[in-house]
Amino acid sequence: MRVLIIGASHAGAQLSANLRQDGWTGEILVIGDEPALPYHRPPLSKTYLAGKTTIDDLLIRPAEFYAKNDISFRVGRVASINRQAHSVTLSDGEEVSYDKLALCLGARPRRLPIAGAELAGVHYLRDAADIEAIREGLAGARRVVIIGAGYIGLETAASLRKLGVQVTVLESAERVLQRVTAPEVSTFYSRVHREEGVDLRTGVSISAIEGDERVRGVRLADGEVIDADLVIIGIGVVPNTELAEAAGLAVDNGIIIDAHGQTSDPDIVAAGDCANHVVPRYDRQLRLESVPSAGEQAKAAAATICNKAKAITALPWFWSDQYELKLQIAGLNEGYDEVVLRGDPDSGRSFACFYFKQGEMIAADCVNHPKEFMFARRVIGERMPVDQSQLADPESSLSDLLKAALSSKV
Ligand SMILES: Cc1cc2nc3c(=O)[nH]c(=O)nc-3n(C[C@H](O)[C@H](O)[C@H](O)COP(=O)(O)OP(=O)(O)OC[C@H]3O[C@@H](n4cnc5c(N)ncnc54)[C@H](O)[C@@H]3O)c2cc1C
Repeated sequence: MRVLIIGASHAGAQLSANLRQDGWTGEILVIGDEPALPYHRPPLSKTYLAGKTTIDDLLIRPAEFYAKNDISFRVGRVASINRQAHSVTLSDGEEVSYDKLALCLGARPRRLPIAGAELAGVHYLRDAADIEAIREGLAGARRVVIIGAGYIGLETAASLRKLGVQVTVLESAERVLQRVTAPEVSTFYSRVHREEGVDLRTGVSISAIEGDERVRGVRLADGEVIDADLVIIGIGVVPNTELAEAAGLAVDNGIIIDAHGQTSDPDIVAAGDCANHVVPRYDRQLRLESVPSAGEQAKAAAATICNKAKAITALPWFWSDQYELKLQIAGLNEGYDEVVLRGDPDSGRSFACFYFKQGEMIAADCVNHPKEFMFARRVIGERMPVDQSQLADPESSLSDLLKAALSSKV
């Protein structure tokens, strides 16, 4: 009996380990198209870009772990799935059979459809090879333009500033992190990046990337050209769902899975950035892009393969490291109607922003505030009531607030 996992990254690595924990005694084969064993992706835009870590430092688990647990890896790209035959075909034509199949296909960077985007010196940022190319390009580069002020763009800006590079960030929205945070949090990050020397421009539209063979600059719609030795584009990702779609699985902004990681085929599970499932706390179908979610979904999918029920129930959370700022995000803020701030985002470098919907806390962004983050995870997860005015007072005790919340919950 063989479980075949396609995709050797966060979801694939977790799934393979959990299969053994859950008692799978058959073969486990992981096929991924990157040359390395699964590695942590978040440090790519941080320590790996800065040249402070090697891929070996970033491995999710050492090679010995996989050897000890009899988990095999193969480098290859899966081109199609034949559900009737229970097999996949690799791009070199070889067929590999499976009894159970796990799709851990992740996501790829969204391409910017603009003139010049194919020039040498224009980069996207998803895997170790992308960073290696950026690092090579950085040798001798002084000016970098980053297109997109989401987490990836801002983390990259922070890493490059630490390396002493001149950085311009261009964002078409009116504020940074517009899709994911409240205006107060955007203002905070804009201030910090400007204090760190980033030339941050929001509300700009780009008409072309200029250069002959190599990039020379970025032309804005108003005609201004910003000189650039290197351009990095970080405008979001697209889930890798084509294999699943072609195989006739249910797909809608991600491969649809149930609460146990199962796709519309009982012999196929999916997990990670490529998957879309109902998040119970919010009762909504969502595709999440984070390491903790990939891990949770992979655990549920492994349990399903082993005929053990383990539903995906965890509250989504995320983090982002920029400069000395550790942002921890609990929950999802979509649909919030009120925010409560604890600490001042307009000065200093730590505060928390709690999101409320109809009086109930639904999410929190905590900058260098780990206790507030832990508090928020509990309050949101257990849907506890909180006194907003006390929460807004940075001197108030979180444990007292929690006690009060617990007693009013009962
Ligand atoms: C620079 C960067 C920084 C990040 N920072 C954070 C952070 O701070 N916190 C956080 O929570 N998340 C962060 N993320 C997001 C996080 O890395 C992803 O959510 C996570 O990698 C998802 O894991 P995954 O296994 O689902 O997919 P992926 O990591 O995308 O892996 C999928 C793998 O499958 C392979 N693959 C796809 N199709 C095929 C095929 N047909 N055949 C063979 N192989 C295939 C891909 O090449 C890839 O190796 C960051 C991501 C990046 C790129």
